[in-house]
Amino acid sequence: MSSVLKVDNIEKYYGSKANLTKAIDRISFEVEEGEYIGIMGASGSGKTTLLNCISTIDQVTAGNIMINGMDITKLKGKHLSRFRREELGFIFQDFNLLDTLTAFENIALALTIMKIPAREIEDRVRSIAEKLMITEVLNKYPYQMSGGQKQRVACARAIVGKPSILLMDEPLSALDAELKISMRRVIQDVHRMTGATIIYVTHDQSEALAMADRILIMKNGKIEQVGTPEEIYLHPQTEFAASFVSKCNFVRGQWNDSYFKVMDQSLIYDGPEVAQAFKNHGLFPVRPEQFHIVKEGKGIPATVTNRQYSGREIHYSLKCGEDTFTVYAGSREQYEPGEQVKLVYQAS
Ligand code: ADP
Ligand code: MG
Repeated sequence: MSSVLKVDNIEKYYGSKANLTKAIDRISFEVEEGEYIGIMGASGSGKTTLLNCISTIDQVTAGNIMINGMDITKLKGKHLSRFRREELGFIFQDFNLLDTLTAFENIALALTIMKIPAREIEDRVRSIAEKLMITEVLNKYPYQMSGGQKQRVACARAIVGKPSILLMDEPLSALDAELKISMRRVIQDVHRMTGATIIYVTHDQSEALAMADRILIMKNGKIEQVGTPEEIYLHPQTEFAASFVSKCNFVRGQWNDSYFKVMDQSLIYDGPEVAQAFKNHGLFPVRPEQFHIVKEGKGIPATVTNRQYSGREIHYSLKCGEDTFTVYAGSREQYEPGEQVKLVYQAS
């Protein structure tokens, strides 16, 4: 494995000296060939800016971006256009298909500009269309296609030039729930088929957890945490990272090395590795399924305030001192609102 993308200490400012916005605040990371990177963060955290810097749509203010060993921040003129055409593929939220061209022509456009022989273009477009199941719409215009077909055509167009990096900025956020799920599969297929490195911006937690090899969480133009979905879910480094990927309870108490005392009781958890940021704030992060509810015995005393049946499990809200915790429990034992119970931590 070699690093296909190396982002080295980049900064990006917008605006004039009097009114500067720092959109990217010294970011560095590397991406291995074939990796699927999910970029997450709140609106305005710099996700699109980061993607635009990698795609050379935007110029960095400082720092370097190496793609296959070449510093793309230095590219100009025809080298730059050639780099974009041959190394990158884009999938945008609004498809960006050209209305006056058929699906075939939309997919073939970049290859035509690259002066690839017509025969080869025909073969490549048809082969990708077959894999993405859009052969029957190749002669149609965008207005004659459904949202899902347009999205597949946009995928085909992005990968037909065999890019080394595929860049996607919230490509599924405008789709309805059902189409979203089926397009997730298409994008996973595209990843498997092409082996391309994918940089995928999303604000959808489940999308990032389900699809990415590694997730990069951004906050205020900085990287908050980079890791595999499991690492971020089970070993978040900050409160922000913990709650950004999924629901998280923050239990308040006192840390003493690896022991955690809750509510001034002698209740002690021999916890897993918990990041220093939590220890500094006297917190212990617990995912909803890591808490178990028991009727009696040791545990943090709590009162059930709400119960929601969801088929496979039951979602409880519990009041515990000042805090309200969320617990996902199996449906075998059930607790009623108002019931006094104990919460026990069990690492997943
Ligand atoms: P995200 O994609 O995470 O929502 P953006 O990268 O679009 O965030 O924006 C990051 C910050 O940079 C925001 O504060 C935004 O207002 C600012 N910004 C983005 N594009 C421009 C621009 N062209 N001119 C000025 N400020 C911009
Ligand atoms: Mg954005």
